[in-house]
Amino acid sequence: MKAAVCTAIDTLELQDVDLPEPGYDEVRIKIVATGICHTDLSVMRGNFEVPKPVILGHEGCGYIDKIGPEVSGLAIGDPVVCSIIFPCYACPQCDRGALSVCDRWFEVAFSGVMPDGTPRLTRNGERINSFFCQSSFAEFAVVPVSGVIKVPRDIELNRLAGLSCGIATGLGASMIRAPVESGATVAVLGAGGVGIATMLGARALEAKSVIAVDQVSSKVEAALSLGAATEGIIAGPDVVEEILRLSPHGNGVDYFFDAVGGPSTMETGIAATRNGGTVCAIGIMRGDLEYKVPIRGLINEKIITGTNGGSIEPRADIPRFIDMLKKGNLPFDRITDRYYALEEIHQAFADLETHQMIRGAILFEH
Ligand SMILES: [Zn+2]
Ligand SMILES: [Zn+2]
Repeated sequence: MKAAVCTAIDTLELQDVDLPEPGYDEVRIKIVATGICHTDLSVMRGNFEVPKPVILGHEGCGYIDKIGPEVSGLAIGDPVVCSIIFPCYACPQCDRGALSVCDRWFEVAFSGVMPDGTPRLTRNGERINSFFCQSSFAEFAVVPVSGVIKVPRDIELNRLAGLSCGIATGLGASMIRAPVESGATVAVLGAGGVGIATMLGARALEAKSVIAVDQVSSKVEAALSLGAATEGIIAGPDVVEEILRLSPHGNGVDYFFDAVGGPSTMETGIAATRNGGTVCAIGIMRGDLEYKVPIRGLINEKIITGTNGGSIEPRADIPRFIDMLKKGNLPFDRITDRYYALEEIHQAFADLETHQMIRGAILFEH
């Protein structure tokens, strides 16, 4: 099968790799569309360590092509979305229902192997690593069933690209991890795909005002034109003052979501949020960033939290998000605004880096 293989930092090669076989509780998916996420780019650029060679891509959707011997409830031909959250359902975190922080997930998602500890991808017999146990920048992907969500047949799969990771993360941040109350004022830093999804989630829960904040004016405009944001700020040195000015009492927003995760972005959020408000980290530019938290902010009851993958329960929340999309309450399909063939993946990454899109996806023609 054709795949884009990251062989070293900044090196992505289109290669013919061996067709992978699903393990006992895995399925093979013929990929139709797969979103392009900043996390793929971070790995490519070496900001995020994973073993190489690796097939990136973790926002795949498609049709089940083959099922492992112990798979039940899924059949060949089913349309599915892969979730980056594939809980083990056996660890203490899964036991308490916190599927998005499954202990086993953290052990395997970036290890290059599948949950059973063995590799799945090869080229002429030589091992290639998996990414998020998915590796969807390829014509076929082998995925553990706990991260495979069957979706309705009456919705085009290309509209669901991104729901695996970025879009579900944004929706879950404002709808599940830090659920926004009706009438709240919300600021979202970062108006890319994740940030705009966060805004759409807040709007679906009837936030009164949603302020889109980004350094790139075209992204702020996109958030406004999609109806995700009610106000916009081009981020500069006075960003905290500008957010305070737009907050109803001048003392900060009720909710601040940081979809960037850059140096000092959470500090901006803490300063721009009212006492007793919530600051939620969603984005992560580099894994080693640290923030300063003023103790006064905590004593004044600001809640500082974060989310992995939107804290979703994939089997419940992905169908719920799709249902809301079909009813017109959550138009997240409009976030993906550029599509590429696999052969155009270098261009897709270049466009992502130079902000030529809100969010892109690779489309496969089988
Ligand atoms: Zn992602
Ligand atoms: Zn678990």
